[in-house]
Amino acid sequence: MQAETGNAKDSGALFEQFTVLDQPNLYSRERCDDIQRLVEEITQLKREKDAVILAHNYQRPEIFEVADFVGDSLELAKRGAQVEQGTIVFCGVHFMAETAKILSPEKRVLIPDSNAGCSLAESVNAESLVDMRDELRQQYPDLVVVSYVNTTAEVKAVTDVCCTSSNAVKVVESVDSNNILFVPDENLAAYVARHTSKNIIAWEGNCYVHHQINPEQIEEVRRARPDIRVLAHPECRKDVLDIADAVLSTSGMMKFAREDDAKEFLVVTECGMSDRLLLEIPDKRFFKSCQLCKYMKMITLEGTRDALVEGRDEIKLTAELCDAARSSVERMFELG
Ligand code: SF4
Repeated sequence: MQAETGNAKDSGALFEQFTVLDQPNLYSRERCDDIQRLVEEITQLKREKDAVILAHNYQRPEIFEVADFVGDSLELAKRGAQVEQGTIVFCGVHFMAETAKILSPEKRVLIPDSNAGCSLAESVNAESLVDMRDELRQQYPDLVVVSYVNTTAEVKAVTDVCCTSSNAVKVVESVDSNNILFVPDENLAAYVARHTSKNIIAWEGNCYVHHQINPEQIEEVRRARPDIRVLAHPECRKDVLDIADAVLSTSGMMKFAREDDAKEFLVVTECGMSDRLLLEIPDKRFFKSCQLCKYMKMITLEGTRDALVEGRDEIKLTAELCDAARSSVERMFELG
């Protein structure tokens, strides 16, 4: 793991905050001037188009500049349902924009690039899930399907209850069954299995970003900085979680880093989370895992501006699909 750091400088300029060591031209002065112009244009467009911008924690730092809210996918979907604006621009990946639509079916939900998918969400489809569920129910008639929110609307629609990385254990403990088909992240499933006595049957899927991180990379950073606190996301492999100081969702990382006495943290998740932490907690140092999600990084300021101007790409789900998917999300709110 190549550790990077980027502490905020006094000027607060994007250029100084976010120079990435192995990509020195990424935030050149010229690019920062472009960013400034785009930020002003998007801010004006938001007002004209009655739109709110929601940005996931893993987005590029300049996207945070135009976002009204930054957070994890579910926090953002809930925010979208609470705000007055009739249009939501979701700066994140496709399943997240779908979740916002599921919770706000009456609103127009736009994603700046509809190709922004997710290797984890794409590892399961509704048809194969139903086939596996029905086969397993011959052996376990009480089997319950618990799906991580990183799934498509179609998969949510055939799910009994959704969960997030922060409430997965609680949801599994709360359902009225001892047999759980946990979809789609095998790493999160293994983490849950270590915290419950229930029978967890894991779907074979993973997030390519988290799955490629290995313990040797973390130990290398630890040897160089023995006091560093290692925060790992539960989508990481078991051998990585075993050596972490804390296993946390992205929101959990924010809270932990704010409250913990340590001054330096190795943030073992998608790289953008370190930028978010740095913005929120500028007096501490955050070392990145150098793992960029290629899907998250498809979202740009230019795409966000175009989404507002052209009203694209709109998330379209039938009312029937929205209703079926919403019931598994609402069940999670009841349990989790
Ligand atoms: S980081 Fe992983 S889970 Fe998140 S959008 Fe990218 S591929 Fe999907």
